[in-house]
Amino acid sequence: MENIDKVMWCTGCFLCMSECPQNCISIGKDSLDTKIPVINATECISCGKCLKVCPQHTAVERNYPINTYVGMGVVNGAKISSASGGVASALYKWAVNNKYCCVGAMWNKDKKSVELAIATDESELEKFRNSKYIFSETNSIFKRISEIIKTLNKKILVIAMPCQIAALKSALKKEYENGKIIFIDIVCHGMSNDSYFEQHLNHIMLQGGADNIAFREKGNFVFSVYNNDSCVYKANYDEDSYFLSYLEGVTYRENCYHCQYAASERIGDLTIGDFDGIDSESIKNDKLRTLKYPSMILVNTKIGEKLLQEVDSIVKEKRLVAEAFRYNEQLKKPAQKSLFRSEFVRRYEQSHDFEKAIRPYWKKKVIKKHIYNLKIYKLAHIVR
Ligand SMILES: Cc1cc2nc3c(=O)[nH]c(=O)nc-3n(C[C@H](O)[C@H](O)[C@H](O)COP(=O)(O)OP(=O)(O)OC[C@H]3O[C@@H](n4cnc5c(N)ncnc54)[C@H](O)[C@@H]3O)c2cc1C
Ligand code: SF4
Ligand code: SF4
Ligand code: SF4
Repeated sequence: MENIDKVMWCTGCFLCMSECPQNCISIGKDSLDTKIPVINATECISCGKCLKVCPQHTAVERNYPINTYVGMGVVNGAKISSASGGVASALYKWAVNNKYCCVGAMWNKDKKSVELAIATDESELEKFRNSKYIFSETNSIFKRISEIIKTLNKKILVIAMPCQIAALKSALKKEYENGKIIFIDIVCHGMSNDSYFEQHLNHIMLQGGADNIAFREKGNFVFSVYNNDSCVYKANYDEDSYFLSYLEGVTYRENCYHCQYAASERIGDLTIGDFDGIDSESIKNDKLRTLKYPSMILVNTKIGEKLLQEVDSIVKEKRLVAEAFRYNEQLKKPAQKSLFRSEFVRRYEQSHDFEKAIRPYWKKKVIKKHIYNLKIYKLAHIVR
């Protein structure tokens, strides 16, 4: 029997580890410090279970969208503050009110890593809000969801990245088919290793702690770090080496450049993302029309359509499916590698030091920005 040594482009979902009857798979790291499964060969009994459940090896059902909406989540008539249109928060709120348990990504206690976690009441939902541009760990989520369904007989609403939904669908096929779980995937261009983020945080904070972190406050791409409730670091996306290199495709896990979920067939009952390139003038609702980052909602199954119609805190308007696909690159193909990727890889493999590895890229970006600013300054003086 073969095992997961045969898997190409591992996403780091660690479902194989959760399912191994010998408990002989552990979390290891490759030459770029990317988390990958490692098998203890002396304990492996070659049962093949890890390969059978792996979503990168065995195909998981996907669907082409049947409907598309532009939308936003509202509370007391105002848009919910979040990365994009606040749709995720509105869905979670509906779920909790209807006695579902919710699954999403939250920062760990030390704010240096992110994991999928479970929330059962409204007070916990805040932690799921906003995009965390860092690899999120699944940890024990597969077993915990299964236990909740079995012992508490509760239903579950999951919002997560497509590769994580694929793993959850593979692990919990029976529960999904019995209507116990609703899956919502997020349009995704990639995740960076958490060790890069941890190193960068230590670098900018000089080892100081953080009690909150945001990449997209009120929708804007601003990276902020808070300590004791006051902001101790704030940088626009192009003023921070971690954030810019992430957005420009330098630092993703290698599998993200080959992502099978960056496609029109979707893994969730709904898909949510930014409605890139929408002709806002054609939106009828005044609040939606003036929104900077309205949400795109793809309806991929009847379960998804029923859910969307039941959530009354989402203001939405129907659009053509083709419109969503026209401008959102991650619905067509995986993210492109930055031209600096190979140099970053070489330098990181040598040093295992994020700041050292990213330095030449960052220097170039800083110089380019200075030249640009100088040109604008000179132009302004000539015009005057
Ligand atoms: C890593 C990442 C890459 C993205 N890339 C794109 C893109 O290329 N194109 C696009 O249109 N949209 C992208 N998005 C989605 C977009 O940024 C918004 O998150 C989405 O539109 C939902 O916005 P919201 O306001 O409804 O929800 P928010 O309140 O912003 O909620 C975000 C939801 O995302 C989940 N989440 C956040 N970070 C992670 C994480 N690291 N791992 C797993 N789940 C997470 C939370 O649990 C929550 O359910 C990306 C999001 C993330 C996290
Ligand atoms: S994709 Fe997931 S299940 Fe497959 S080898 Fe990687 S961690 Fe294991
Ligand atoms: S083949 Fe079986 S025993 Fe070996 S690692 Fe995979 S699941 Fe575990
Ligand atoms: S790009 Fe694909 S493989 Fe990478 S995190 Fe996103 S969904 Fe997963």
